[in-house]
Amino acid sequence: MNTKTGCQLQVGSMKSAFDISECRKAKYAENPEPYKLSSRKSYRKNIEKVRAYREANKEKRNAQSKAWRKKNKKHILKYQKEWRENNIVQIKNYSREHYSENTDILKAKSARWRKENPELFKIQGKRYRENNKDKIHTKNAKRRALLKGAKVENIDRGKIYIREKGICGICGLFVPLDEMTLDHIIPLIKGGEHSIKNVQIAHLICNSAKGDKILIKEVC
Ligand SMILES: [Zn+2]
Repeated sequence: MNTKTGCQLQVGSMKSAFDISECRKAKYAENPEPYKLSSRKSYRKNIEKVRAYREANKEKRNAQSKAWRKKNKKHILKYQKEWRENNIVQIKNYSREHYSENTDILKAKSARWRKENPELFKIQGKRYRENNKDKIHTKNAKRRALLKGAKVENIDRGKIYIREKGICGICGLFVPLDEMTLDHIIPLIKGGEHSIKNVQIAHLICNSAKGDKILIKEVC
């Protein structure tokens, strides 16, 4: 029998539009580059026509695009996840910039979402608190200091880490950057400031054990 492998059909049989489309898809999956190149070339050559067509068929194209996204949801999610993982720095920079340019709008949007999704908000908050214990501790410390009228400075945790050379101010051993906590040398409750001078880095376990005590360092 005169048959061929791959996406080709038996010689002599009629190919339906569906078969042709499947055949093209298989070839594209095997080696997409020539197709991409030819598509780019054709786009550049016919750019005016393409623009005019898109403008004239806006609604039709939107509907097609919506249907395609609905049909390929899993594929899109997988692609987006991979893209996010590969572009994490750019995403963070963009988010920071976007937030500072649109702070009021974003805050209002976020407040609306919290009001409409109280249960989800609770779950998210719990997860955030579990993963960011030290950030919350520092934020609370700052708030307490403000309430007491103590001096409050903006503290760059990274700079303090470098200043302390990664050494825990309580036990004297190395602390990995992602495990550091900020300790107030003179606790806020005892009148200490939330200032660059009054903080040191510490292990979470050392910081918790120290609590609100003031440690007197032995000088030889
Ligand atoms: Zn320690």
